[in-house]
Amino acid sequence: MTIATHQPPATTHPPTTLLARHLINGEFVDGVRGQTFDTLNPATNEVIGQVAEGTAEDIDLAVRAARRAFDSGPWRTMKAADRAKALRRIGDLIMRDQALIADTEILDTGIPIAQIKHGQVPRAADNFYFFAEMATRMTGESFPVDSAFLNYSILRPVGVAGLITPWNTPFMLETWKLAPCLASGCTCVLKPAEWSPLSADRLAHLVQEADLAPGVVNVVHGFGEMAGAPLVAHPDVQLISFTGETTTGQEIMRHGAATLKRFSFELGGKSPVVIFPDADLDRALDATVFGVYSLNGERCTAGSRAIVHRSIYDDFVAALAERVRRVRVGPPSDPQTELGPLIHPDHWARVRDYMDIGRAEGAEILVGGDRPAGLPQGNYFAATLITNVRNDMRIAQEEVFGPVLTVIPFADEAEAVRLANDVKYGLAAYLWTGDTARAHRVAHAIESGMVWVNSHNVRDLRTPFGGAKWSGVGREGGHYSFEFYCETKTVHVALGQHPIPKMGK
Ligand code: NAD
Repeated sequence: MTIATHQPPATTHPPTTLLARHLINGEFVDGVRGQTFDTLNPATNEVIGQVAEGTAEDIDLAVRAARRAFDSGPWRTMKAADRAKALRRIGDLIMRDQALIADTEILDTGIPIAQIKHGQVPRAADNFYFFAEMATRMTGESFPVDSAFLNYSILRPVGVAGLITPWNTPFMLETWKLAPCLASGCTCVLKPAEWSPLSADRLAHLVQEADLAPGVVNVVHGFGEMAGAPLVAHPDVQLISFTGETTTGQEIMRHGAATLKRFSFELGGKSPVVIFPDADLDRALDATVFGVYSLNGERCTAGSRAIVHRSIYDDFVAALAERVRRVRVGPPSDPQTELGPLIHPDHWARVRDYMDIGRAEGAEILVGGDRPAGLPQGNYFAATLITNVRNDMRIAQEEVFGPVLTVIPFADEAEAVRLANDVKYGLAAYLWTGDTARAHRVAHAIESGMVWVNSHNVRDLRTPFGGAKWSGVGREGGHYSFEFYCETKTVHVALGQHPIPKMGK
């Protein structure tokens, strides 16, 4: 087996921050207990920085600051146009520092620079520009009732939000939560993931520079059980927007029940790519390869299950194998790299374990399946293609969250839909066909929050984003974000002398 690799060029740029501290009430502070943890470079597993390790005490300080900023600060009550200006300022600062942010992100996550620079960082700025615009368009509905009443609804920010983010594409996902939260007038405590905290620290510095009132945005670093759990349990936090694993979502929902939290969950996925023989197969091939191996395969919406019509199965798998062998694995700082190292040695071991699990179940690792030759250090894992797969195998059912694609043949449309739906997840689906009627039919039949037809994962920020089944609860994006961050209040106004029943007269 030959796997394309190239040798490491110069080391990555130095990190921008070697000590990431909490941002609480407008100041960068150490944790109350003074503890820190290390963050590693996935390309070498060397320590690149220390991070304040938050605990319940830090969370409490941050939530109190966010509460004060919400109750008495100007953020909630200022003109929407002024909030929008502040959001645009953050977007501009991201664009100003895009090279620095990209360097930080590749160093901390291992995502290839080409995918960060031209994808994730500009998208992060767009999140702020987009929700700046949305802030000025927040509106309700009116319900005239004959000439007797005018009822109308208005949106009011709920309060303090806890934003809990995962380690994959951290900067983009943090901004995806922070921008609508701020646009709505809520204040927040962000708890970034412990395996990739450095870009959240950059974001904290940019927010600080944008000069929002103290306490509007607080960032507390730390581990899930130590910092995330107290945020979820805190009685002064009303909202939890969480992106991460489904099992963590279940835990958070249990924890938040006592204080009746409102949840928005973006969870795991095992998204199908269904390919019919009448599709543009060259484009389907390009999209399938990019959809699962970009962002190191650590992508919630990865199309990790190709479901291919029997009549084209052999040819399509051969073409896939050829492309997958050529995916360039290497250091994330190299512009030629297509697939960088996985986030952490523990995650590498988890992905590697799935190879043994797959083999034991009878699947064939056609390409990849292990560390690529020539890259002895770091968490490198070859682009992997698995065939001989049955849909009930763990490798076809469970989220691997790495550069691993399984392929399964189908005989007809009904079987394609059955296979696509026969998983607990339902985040995204991709569908390739030249038959318009079938495209709509199958798109409607697949159980997922989002379907892309003859398209790779291109998003318009106005559209609702989220998952069905075990992939999520609720939708964010466009005005859907405001349904989460805002209370819809209905005002009922009598326009005349309507009859009022008289009691006790
Ligand atoms: P994870 O669930 O392990 O951790 C996510 C965050 O939750 C981290 O900040 C972690 O510290 C925190 N956390 C862990 N336990 C907690 C607890 N008990 N209480 C509160 N917070 C807690 O997820 P991960 O491994 O960081 O990320 C990978 C997962 O995220 C994958 O399953 C992936 O599909 C999913 N994801 C989903 C989307 C989406 O939009 N649907 C996007 C990106 C990632």
